[in-house]
Amino acid sequence: MTTSAITASNKNSRGIFERRESAVRSYARNFPVKFVKAQGETLFAEDGEEYIDFLAGCSSLNYGHNHPKLKEALTDYIASDGLTHSLDMETDAKEEFLEEFERTILKPRKLDYMVQFTGPTGANAVEAALKIARKVTGRTNIIAFTNGFHGCTLGALALTGNSHHRGGAGVPLGGVTRMPFDGYHGDGVDTAAQIDRLLSDPSSGVDAPAAFIVETVQGEGGLNAASFEWLRAIQKIARKHGALFIVDDIQAGIGRTGSFFSFEPAGIEPDIVTLAKSLSGYGLPMALTLLKRDLDIWKPGEHNGTFRGNCHAFVTATAALKTFWRDDTFVKEIKRKASIVKERFEAIAAKHDDDIAGVKGRGMMLGLDVGSGEVASRVVKECFANGLVIETSGADDEVVKCLAPLTISDENLKRALTIVERAVDKALSKNVKAAA
Ligand code: PLP
Repeated sequence: MTTSAITASNKNSRGIFERRESAVRSYARNFPVKFVKAQGETLFAEDGEEYIDFLAGCSSLNYGHNHPKLKEALTDYIASDGLTHSLDMETDAKEEFLEEFERTILKPRKLDYMVQFTGPTGANAVEAALKIARKVTGRTNIIAFTNGFHGCTLGALALTGNSHHRGGAGVPLGGVTRMPFDGYHGDGVDTAAQIDRLLSDPSSGVDAPAAFIVETVQGEGGLNAASFEWLRAIQKIARKHGALFIVDDIQAGIGRTGSFFSFEPAGIEPDIVTLAKSLSGYGLPMALTLLKRDLDIWKPGEHNGTFRGNCHAFVTATAALKTFWRDDTFVKEIKRKASIVKERFEAIAAKHDDDIAGVKGRGMMLGLDVGSGEVASRVVKECFANGLVIETSGADDEVVKCLAPLTISDENLKRALTIVERAVDKALSKNVKAAA
């Protein structure tokens, strides 16, 4: 295509989005180009520009775009006329996924979860977790945390802290008591002890909870990482007060923080776990709610959904487990890459220590708190102008967040980190230390 033809086609194709697509679209506003191809960590735009993807479908593409082994498994399956859609009927695709998940994930970790295929979004897995917790305990109250994000359906939204998202509900969001996450009141305050005190006091006004729901690292809430000690304390408090302990591992799981489940290094064993995003490994919609065996008291079809049997997602999920999780090679690689990001982010933070509050997160889920949403937005824009797609998180969108594919090459990882560093330098230019 000639340059003028590309420009014309860009204009036309962009026009339809603005003319016809709902104002609810959001990421498209930060990255106003049309993407036509993606491979690994690279996005290709219609105008010929290439971008490194540090957003990775908001951690739905932990193995990158179109991973060749996953693509091969999927195209072979389609070519063989395997079922695409199966409601919750038995298929070979689902059988292979369950066998592989049991063999590669559950058994080595001595976990005995029943696997509930929910509707294919994270929010649906969360809704199922809430319903079963309420049904099992006969209680309605759920303890959720400050800065938590669990999705935008009404049940999940009631758990979510962010007022922008909550404001879209249009009805009161109830059945939830908000408690302070680890570190919410600063380093010296043990929020777990506060919560225990409130639940132990019959006059605190907090109803006995059906469950606690927690993210080990708050993905949308600003990459606040709970300490392992705090997670263990919360699990203990939940059990002490007859509540179930739910870990929402939709964003932090599937390797993002360095292990398949983000809670593994904390030595805890949640009663319920939600998974989605990178579970299919290919960006195909698929979600699970894992339940301890004795909690699985559902009646057939009680939590239903037409798209619980996305066989294409089962095929790529199985291929991902086989490719990445049968031994510890991938885990070691994540750790190595995470230390590259952490070191670089710490250097950037040190250079701007008047403005940058610090490096947040864990594993390959790391961010730079640049102090304000306005500065973070400038960083994101500058990164995009230099070929990097990166987003923000936090109450004021003040954290620039790295969610690079875990399979990214060292070369592109370092290249992208240099783009981030230069963008931060520019955004905070008046404050760069002379010595730097
Ligand atoms: N839970 C967590 C921790 C998330 O980060 C998200 C999405 O970002 C969700 C739930 C909701 O998932 P979905 O957007 O697929 O409904």
